[in-house]
Amino acid sequence: MKYQAFLAHNLDKLPQSKLLTAAQLQEIKIVSAVLPFKTNNYVADQLIDWNNTENDPMFRLTFPQRGMLEPLHYDLLATTMKRGASLDVMKNMVNSIRFQLNPHPAGQLEHNMPFFEGERLEGIQHKYPQTVLVFPAQGQTCHAYCTFCFRWPQFVGINELKFAMREAQQLVNYVRAHKEVTDVLFTGGDPMIMRTEILSRYFDALLNAGIEHLQTIRIGTKALAFWPYRFTADDDADELLRLFERVVERGINLSVMAHFSHTVELSTDEVKKAIKRIRATGAQIRTQSPILRGINDKPEIWAAMWREQVNQNCIPYYMFIPRDTGARQYFAVPLVKAWEVFRGAYQNVSGICRTVRGPSMSCDPGKVQLLGVSQIENKKVMVLRLLQGRNPDWVGRPFFARYDDQAEWFDELQPASSADSLFFNQLKKVSPQYSLS
Ligand SMILES: *Cc1c(COP(=O)(O)O)cnc(C)c1O
Ligand code: SF4
Repeated sequence: MKYQAFLAHNLDKLPQSKLLTAAQLQEIKIVSAVLPFKTNNYVADQLIDWNNTENDPMFRLTFPQRGMLEPLHYDLLATTMKRGASLDVMKNMVNSIRFQLNPHPAGQLEHNMPFFEGERLEGIQHKYPQTVLVFPAQGQTCHAYCTFCFRWPQFVGINELKFAMREAQQLVNYVRAHKEVTDVLFTGGDPMIMRTEILSRYFDALLNAGIEHLQTIRIGTKALAFWPYRFTADDDADELLRLFERVVERGINLSVMAHFSHTVELSTDEVKKAIKRIRATGAQIRTQSPILRGINDKPEIWAAMWREQVNQNCIPYYMFIPRDTGARQYFAVPLVKAWEVFRGAYQNVSGICRTVRGPSMSCDPGKVQLLGVSQIENKKVMVLRLLQGRNPDWVGRPFFARYDDQAEWFDELQPASSADSLFFNQLKKVSPQYSLS
C-alpha cells in the first residue's frame, strides 16, 4: 500500500468523500483553516465507518468538526470567507484565533528547554530528571493528524513555536553530561514519519557514544494506529526493524510508546502484523491515549482496548486527560468522569492489564494522577498524586482537593485543607531545573 495524504485542498480525491454532505465539507474547510487536518488512505479505507460519520470515533479523531471552534470564531471565519476576503485578512484572522487557543500549554516553551554550554537546545525538553525528550527536526509531522492534538502549532507552521533538534551530536553531549538521565524519548510530531536513514543517525550516535547511564530509548508514535505499513511494507521497513534490533543487542531497552485511542485501531491485519514484527526485534510496546469525549469515554472501550493490547503483547501504560489547548473544549471530559471511566475499566480487567496508570494530567509541576474520589469526615474530596514531578520530592504523595465534578484540569482544583494549601502552593512555584544553568 502506498501512502496517500488527504488534506482540505485534495479531499475530493478521497473516494469516500462523496459520502460527506455539503455542510460537512464546508465545516471541514472552515475548521481546518485554524486547526491542522490531514488523513490518509489507510485511516479512510480501514478505520473509518463511512456510513456513520456523525458518530464514528475515527472520523472524529481525524476530521475537523464544527464544534471544535468557539461559535464566535466559527461564524467570524464563515462570514469572512463568504465575502471573499483577501488572503492576508484571512491569515491574520486565523493567526489571531490560533493564539487564543493556548498553543503552548504547561509552560513547555519557557520551562523545559535546557541550556548546555551556554546554548539553548531547541530540540530538547528536559523536565523530569530521568527522561530527555527529543524533537528531531525531520519528525515534526504525522501520518494523519489527531483533532485533539496538543502539538498542533507544529503542523500549522507558527514557526517560533516549533521545537526541533538539528544535531544528533548536541543530544549525545547533553545526555553524556547528565548522569541522571536514563531515558531518551523521541517524539514529534511523530518520529516514525522519518525515514530509517534519518532516524538511525540519532540512534547510532547514541549507541556509538557508549553512554553507560543510558538504559532506555523510547519512541512516541501513532504510526501503528495511523500507518502500520511503516513497520511492514514501506521500502525501509525492514531496515527500521534491523535498527531496532541493534538497539536491543546493545542491552538498551527499546520501548515503542504506541498511541491507541480506540479498539478499531488494533483490529486490522496490518496493525497486528506490525506489532508482531516490532515485538520480534526484542522491542517492547507500551500504549497510551487521552480520554476523549465521543471517542473513548466509556469503560467498555478502555477495558476492551487494554485486553486486546495485552493479547497482542503490548503493555498498557497511561490514560491521559487531554491538554488545555486547541479543540480541548470539544473533547474534554470532567476529571471525575474520567476517573469513573478509568475505574470502570480497571475493575473489569485482570492484573496483567493493570500496568496502566491514570487518569493523568501533564501539568507544569508534573504528571498529576486522579486516584479517585473519597470522603474525609463529611467532606467529599478528590485524591491526587504526582506520577512525575519537576521536583522528585513531590512524586508519590497523596494529597487532596475539594470535590468538583465539573473541573477538567488541575488548575481548576482547590486544596481541601490548609495542609493541602501548602502543597498546592509549592506546586505552583515552578522552578525549572534545567533551563537556567
Ligand atoms: C510524560 C513525560 C515524560 C515521560 O514520563 P514517564 O512517566 O517516564 O513516562 C518525560 N518528559 C515529559 C516532559 C513528559 O511530559
Ligand atoms: S499522532 Fe500525536 S503528535 Fe501527531 S497529530 Fe496525533 S496527537 Fe498530535
